[in-house]
Amino acid sequence: MASKNLFCDLAFEPINGLFPYQPGKPIDELQRELGLKDVVKLASNENPLGPSESVKKRIQQSLDDLSLYPDGNGFYLKKALSDKLGVPADMITLGNGSNDVLDAIARVFLSSGRECIYSEYAFVVYAIATQSVGATARVSKAYQPDQQSPYGHDLAAMEALVTEKTSVIFIANPNNPTGTWIEPEALKQFINKLPRHIIIVIDEAYGEYLDEQNQVDTTKWLQSCPNLIITRTFSKAYGLAGLRIGYSVSHPDIANLLNRVRHPFNVNSLGLVAAETALQDEEYIRKSREMNKQGLKQLSKGFKQLDLDYIPSAGNFITVKVGEKSADIYTRLLHEGVIVRPIAAYKMPQHLRVSVGLPLENEKLLSALKKVLAHV
Ligand SMILES: *Cc1c(COP(=O)(O)O)cnc(C)c1O
Repeated sequence: MASKNLFCDLAFEPINGLFPYQPGKPIDELQRELGLKDVVKLASNENPLGPSESVKKRIQQSLDDLSLYPDGNGFYLKKALSDKLGVPADMITLGNGSNDVLDAIARVFLSSGRECIYSEYAFVVYAIATQSVGATARVSKAYQPDQQSPYGHDLAAMEALVTEKTSVIFIANPNNPTGTWIEPEALKQFINKLPRHIIIVIDEAYGEYLDEQNQVDTTKWLQSCPNLIITRTFSKAYGLAGLRIGYSVSHPDIANLLNRVRHPFNVNSLGLVAAETALQDEEYIRKSREMNKQGLKQLSKGFKQLDLDYIPSAGNFITVKVGEKSADIYTRLLHEGVIVRPIAAYKMPQHLRVSVGLPLENEKLLSALKKVLAHV
């Protein structure tokens, strides 16, 4: 913070240590600032295919209902999710993006005096959610760059931080911004070992991008681990980031608690119908996964040719090490009309995170990067 906030003495003390979440730069902002026309945004892990046609049609059919409040209980979307996932609707909690659910989890299960464990380089929202309720973060060391899963969650290190005050553990699988992924068997063993009074959150925002043979239905684990909460989103593979819709699957009694702090009408009416429709469009997901796979290949091959180290990714983005000049490289890329994501806030100041785009967008990034690297 540059200058002291006039009201910081009045604020709930832990809020003074927080910084606002830094989103990827919006396309039109860069267009305004630099007068550029052709801008590619590979900064927020959005689906480059855009929303599916069926979703756009369904939204159009719902425009006349905009003057009405949405269904605050999200009956039809929960029913669609319940049918698709094979879990009762009372295990589902809807959120304004899965961020909303993560935040609700913190408000229900964390408070000052309680501890939350997450890994170094884990999704930054865990830190914000933990601190905003005054709980103590216990951040575990990630695997070292030369270890088997560089920058990935080290489950043994997480386990070593467990105390009687531990209330919540957040695990992103795959993780953002590292793209690292924990094998289901290892994760299951970890969860089984922990005391049942700890709420374990598995954030599966990128689950749909895993190869089909690696996808396991973690909702089945709830039968033996009722302390588990699985969060998912429509923002990534489903291509609906702008509509803000996510959900969790948990024991009904946990869902019941989350429901008590959920803001009324937290999910908007277009989000509800769009998600319900998107859920049926399995072809769109297949296509997104396949395109992502090709894009990861294209980007990693390009990074290799530029002699850059990258972290192998199970997500729809790839984090590449560009070195100490990364802030300069980021800015120069903006001038080339390419927005990527600096991740200094994740304590990875030498890396940039690049979302997988369409083939031509990936190409544009790679050639811009080549040009920029020659000048720094
Ligand atoms: C993008 C992302 C989310 C999803 O955010 P939404 O609020 O659903 O848009 C959740 N967790 C991780 C790790 C993410 O990267």
